[in-house]
Amino acid sequence: MSNKVIIFSAPSGAGKSTIVNHILGLRNDLEFSISATSRAPRGQEQHGVEYYFFSAEEFRQMIAEDKFVEHEEVYPGSFYGTLRSEVERIWAKGNAIVFDIDVQGGVNLKRIFGEQALSVFIQAPSVEILRERLIGRGTDTMEAIERRVAKAKSEMEFAAGKFDYVLVNDDLQTALAEAEDIVADFLK
Ligand code: 5GP
Repeated sequence: MSNKVIIFSAPSGAGKSTIVNHILGLRNDLEFSISATSRAPRGQEQHGVEYYFFSAEEFRQMIAEDKFVEHEEVYPGSFYGTLRSEVERIWAKGNAIVFDIDVQGGVNLKRIFGEQALSVFIQAPSVEILRERLIGRGTDTMEAIERRVAKAKSEMEFAAGKFDYVLVNDDLQTALAEAEDIVADFLK
């Protein structure tokens, strides 16, 4: 295997972390890409585990030095990015890189890595099922439900055609098996 990357993106609530952690636990030729950020660590987060933490000033300096494959100001003043050194670190071990990144970041990474990348969009089931689930839960007004449904719809439309694979997370066990298969197929 040479210099491959696998990108998982999803709107929140689609079960992305569960799927990514399952895939990482399954194979030892995959390694999670640790992003750099200028936000403060939360809770037990450690430098070099969840993220590489830097000040905004250090981060800007590193942007100027072209140290990033990609970076984004996700929230005002909070930078996130993938370091070139992180990509090199993982590839040097002969591993493929796994990214768990928001939809926009995923699209950017796919553009950068092209054929070296498999990009997977994890999607909650259909708009109808999402609406039924929200109604069944009984915690939102119809107006709030329609707002959520509209947001999910626009995220799905944005993602359409921009990812190599759309993985519908309806039944989790099925989604995990499907994720395993597409990853195995890409890496073989
Ligand atoms: P959090 O602060 O909650 O850990 O992450 C906030 C957002 O930053 C999430 O949407 C996450 O996907 C995004 N993010 C994390 N790492 C990177 C990265 O390396 N590049 C980009 N563009 N976004 C990232």
